[in-house]
Amino acid sequence: MSTLHLDDDVRYLKGIGEQRARLLEKLEIRTVYDLISWFPRAYEDRSVICWLSDVEEGESACVRATVVSTPLLSRIRKGLTITRFRIADDSAAAEVTIFNQPYAKNNLSVGTMYTFYGRFQRKGSKLTLQNPNYERCDLEGTKTGRIVPIYRLTAGITQRGIAQAVQQGLNACQGELRDLLPPETIRRYGLQDVQEAYRSVHAPASMEDARRARERLVFEELFVLACALGSMKSERRREQGFPIPKQDPADFASALPFELTGAQQRAIEEALRDMASGQAMNRLVQGDVGSGKTMVAAACIRAVCRAGYQAAFMAPTELLADQHFRTFSDLLEPMGIRVIQLKGSMGARAKREAKERLALGEADLAVGTHALLSEDVEFHRLALAVTDEQHRFGVRQRSALAAKTSAAPHVLVMSATPIPRTLALILYGDLDVSVIDELPPGRQKVDTFAVDESMRPRIERFIARLVDEGRQVYVVCPMIEEGEEETEDLRSASEVYDHLRTQVFPQYRLGLLHGKMKAQEKDAVMAGFVSGEIQILVSTTVVEVGVDVPNAALMVVENADRFGLSQLHQLRGRVGRGKHKSYCVLFKGKGGGVSGERLQALVRENDGFRISEEDLKLRGPGDFFGSRQHGLPTLHIADLASSLDVLKEAQAEAARLLRADPELKGHPDLKARVAQVVRGAENS
Ligand code: ADP
Ligand code: MG
Repeated sequence: MSTLHLDDDVRYLKGIGEQRARLLEKLEIRTVYDLISWFPRAYEDRSVICWLSDVEEGESACVRATVVSTPLLSRIRKGLTITRFRIADDSAAAEVTIFNQPYAKNNLSVGTMYTFYGRFQRKGSKLTLQNPNYERCDLEGTKTGRIVPIYRLTAGITQRGIAQAVQQGLNACQGELRDLLPPETIRRYGLQDVQEAYRSVHAPASMEDARRARERLVFEELFVLACALGSMKSERRREQGFPIPKQDPADFASALPFELTGAQQRAIEEALRDMASGQAMNRLVQGDVGSGKTMVAAACIRAVCRAGYQAAFMAPTELLADQHFRTFSDLLEPMGIRVIQLKGSMGARAKREAKERLALGEADLAVGTHALLSEDVEFHRLALAVTDEQHRFGVRQRSALAAKTSAAPHVLVMSATPIPRTLALILYGDLDVSVIDELPPGRQKVDTFAVDESMRPRIERFIARLVDEGRQVYVVCPMIEEGEEETEDLRSASEVYDHLRTQVFPQYRLGLLHGKMKAQEKDAVMAGFVSGEIQILVSTTVVEVGVDVPNAALMVVENADRFGLSQLHQLRGRVGRGKHKSYCVLFKGKGGGVSGERLQALVRENDGFRISEEDLKLRGPGDFFGSRQHGLPTLHIADLASSLDVLKEAQAEAARLLRADPELKGHPDLKARVAQVVRGAENS
């Protein structure tokens, strides 16, 4: 067979026609390389042959046995046929039934020995086998008598179909597969070579062989990823940025009503140094809720504005944008910085005015949502973009910004989502990171309780007591998904609000906040809570990030089992921000065992990073962010939750290689693969 290139379309493969190619495309398999990189998700060990007398009830096993009775086909009803026959080996006999394969009868002949693989059931002395895979003993080695790879499928393709296609692919590109790993790396870690790894992963000789193949392929995948991130980072290094003369941070600190923590000072120092370097800053400031990230942003904004440039500050919701607008106005206006707000819900006239001031350079800082990135917003001299509570400020947003300026703007990303290190390395591998690992002094641990319904009366009395003491309380309810019913156990925020207001706490002032309200209504409610007018705020997760009301001392979460641990930790971070002892109560709902255990992690732990590691372990990376919009790269074989050690090794190897050969000139195959990954990341 003629050799194909890895990038060739699968249609060029023998046996893959238009129809099958279209099915494969559903699995995002387009090229020969995609196909052979469709790694099995599991294996079935059909290599061990056992005696019929030894098979265990409910277990899958492989046996060699002779057909001892003529297969009988019966038609039970329309669309249901059964073929029945008996098999025997030297140890015992069994009854076989096969559903809906009328042709099976013709494939099997009495007196011939076949190898069967399937799940056995034992009732008393009777042994049965349903719908086995089988092939003649002398032809064994495809469906039985070996370790069989199990692939992810899509409707219309069978395991065998995929396996065959993969084998075709492997045969067709013999010798085309090049080792992307440098020989030293392979030696250092004792890894399989690439040809062997691809062969073994699809058709391992033993389970150990499969493990070794996977080990090698995981390493390679993470290594390529690390190279891609490394080269994106150095690419960015070469981008010219606006030089912002470094100012004495003490100058800024002296204008604050409190002392900056050591961690805040470090982060500010690092960011100011970046901006003075002549290159564009790309920095992530990561710190637990309440660690004071906003001050880092403020210090940068001030430096940029002092140098005669403008800054943009973007928050994920209008609610947060409002809050930051107030914070920055209070803090920065006295320093001579002109702060304006720009958001979707503003009237046309106000918007136009704000835009004019930005375009003319009559405003120094614009605070808003991501609407600030929209095309018709022009800046006079934008030099810094800060984004708050976004998992990722992608390449696309960066280029949207770059289009508004003459050089690459400095970018500061702030995140309180404590991301497990594995994910952080990947999501933010192309950013520099400052970690704020210290809370402002005087913060107290938030006491956390996971409770069930029986505790409700006590919790209600507790709420009343705190409110009487002058504190404020959040009650957060999960969003009820489209098409989901409200039930006694699962009530919407408005339902809970009505109940509390009329039945439980008629003597207090309650407020309701949810995503479907108009921005103005939300503003009014939030303002009421900030001022203390509203004592108990019932809401959906709109209060999740960033909202700052120091007098709030209790966070009650309904149906807590509906939330991710990190999300709950975020919610808990809404209290304990002032001088008052604060509490978090998690109502377990009827989730049951596992979710109850998960909640215990929060009761135990206060450290967001450790909670997120736990969350990742429990839910896996796919669910971690809820969706793929955060730019996690697609990994074919590596599993982020369990690959931290390999990731670290792969990163060390990638760094070593990039130091020696920054542009991968001596590694053309790797360079090409890395370029593909970079393009993928940029389009995400
Ligand atoms: P986050 O990191 O969650 O965004 P914020 O920046 O909103 O945290 O800060 C939380 C609260 O802590 C704010 O009220 C802020 O004014 C206050 N704060 C920030 N830094 C300090 C500090 N060094 N000392 C005391 N309070 C601080
Ligand atoms: Mg914040």
